[in-house]
Amino acid sequence: MSYFQTLKDSITCKEAAEHYGLKVNAVGMARCPFHSDHTPSLKLSQGFHCFGCGIQGDVITFVSKLFGISAGEAVQKLASDFHVHIHLRGPPVDSVPDSEHELELWVCFAKEILHRYYDRLVLWKQFLCPTVPEAPWHPLFVEALQNQATIRELIHILEFGSKQEHQEIYEYYRKMVISIDRKTRTLEYSRNLSKTES
Ligand SMILES: [Zn+2]
Repeated sequence: MSYFQTLKDSITCKEAAEHYGLKVNAVGMARCPFHSDHTPSLKLSQGFHCFGCGIQGDVITFVSKLFGISAGEAVQKLASDFHVHIHLRGPPVDSVPDSEHELELWVCFAKEILHRYYDRLVLWKQFLCPTVPEAPWHPLFVEALQNQATIRELIHILEFGSKQEHQEIYEYYRKMVISIDRKTRTLEYSRNLSKTES
């Protein structure tokens, strides 16, 4: 599991907001610090979404925007403020690909899967976005808030990163890529099924 994921599983956006001084009411709403907000229009749970200015994302994005720091700095800040233990190094020994060629093949495979997943996240964020504060959040909308920034970053590194960075992604995210591949295939399957039924 990646350290981004560990952190997001450990701290909700609501907890972070309260910790950093936002007043969150009983239904998880607060006055948005990102626009001039007179009534609480920022909904906080695992992620955040503002009904006023439309800003949204995961806990890492929230802290990075709140303090004007990078995502990496936000991860370190959250980990230290919430005492979350994060392993930044130390991949399992059996996860090194046999050859350079194998790594290159894997990078192509991973890029394709992550691009497909990213497109899906963009759609979920757009079409499953809640329209009223009281509505429960669709799980796929939450997933999109949680994962979009990480997936975008991973794709960027796979496209433009060094061999060393590719190696690191292989070590830390290989299992995640496999599970995303499985999941998107299942979703595609169910979507095709519903098409033929209608
Ligand atoms: Zn706002």
